[in-house]
Amino acid sequence: MKTDSLPLIAVLATGGTIAGRAGDAASTAGYKAGVVGVNDLLDAVPALGNVARIHAEQIASIDSKDMSHALWTTLAKRIDELAAQGDISGIVVTHGTDTLEETAYMLHLTVKTAKPVVLTAAMRPSSALSADGPLNLLNAVTVAACERAKGQGVLVAFNNQIHTARDVTKTSTYAVDAFRSPETGALGFVQDGRVEFQRAVTKPHTLASEFAIVDEWPMVEIVASYAGASRVAVDALVAAGVKGIVVAGTGNGSVHASITQALVDAVKAGVAVVRASRVGSGHVMRNGAASDDALGSVSAGTLNPYKARVLLMLALAAGVNDARGVQRVFDMY
Ligand code: ASP
Repeated sequence: MKTDSLPLIAVLATGGTIAGRAGDAASTAGYKAGVVGVNDLLDAVPALGNVARIHAEQIASIDSKDMSHALWTTLAKRIDELAAQGDISGIVVTHGTDTLEETAYMLHLTVKTAKPVVLTAAMRPSSALSADGPLNLLNAVTVAACERAKGQGVLVAFNNQIHTARDVTKTSTYAVDAFRSPETGALGFVQDGRVEFQRAVTKPHTLASEFAIVDEWPMVEIVASYAGASRVAVDALVAAGVKGIVVAGTGNGSVHASITQALVDAVKAGVAVVRASRVGSGHVMRNGAASDDALGSVSAGTLNPYKARVLLMLALAAGVNDARGVQRVFDMY
């Protein structure tokens, strides 16, 4: 194969377990995330040379549990810059699994490119027997180099599957098939170099999204509802100046009566309130388990609380803050 005819893919490394190392090869739990550099990750996958030419950048070296808004801004801007380069065909981001779904959804709604942007990660550190990172990285680069991945927004290549950033979520603490898209399923798969899409993304993203990369992130926090809940957390957040609250409600987005009264007061104080569910699948209907009309709240639809928080921050940053406007955004994205 003539290697200079291969597509040029940018690989942006941010850390995570894919770049993790443990003291012994049998260890898959006691390790340090984000310590192996991007060039070492790439060197571990010689087969990449048959798929793409690689431009590598170390954007950060963190455990993604510590992902920050500032790093989100840096990453999104760098993706836009690279995507604007005529010689780059696609972009891969290596990331920790813990907050991957939040970063992926943020990028899905803010970067302005039709070129493939593919996140990948690993459940086992690079030093582990049966480490899953090398194949996930190869598959992510394969998807990023694939013509048919264009215009599908931000994708997640993991464990031979391809997911849309909108629907994918981490569902297991240690299993290598941790990423799922509840209700909708994967978009397709990548196996032995073959990329197949079985469904397409329908909600707007990237070039069709109204949202821009955010420099100043509004304060939006998540409060859970559960047996014996009190209004203390909501009141403390309002006193701290929160701009939005996402409730991880019970069942179909129902909220404990103690919290409900605090939310009514929060809305009166100008805080945007979104009802999501802690269940992990299914949707939350407007005026279903609670009266959004009476509360002044918004239903999150099929977005889980963490993704609902991302969308609410983007909406608030774009100046959409009345309940009608925020509900329109949640119905659309
Ligand atoms: N704590 C790690 C991280 O998110 C977990 C992982 O990558 O699997 O960076």
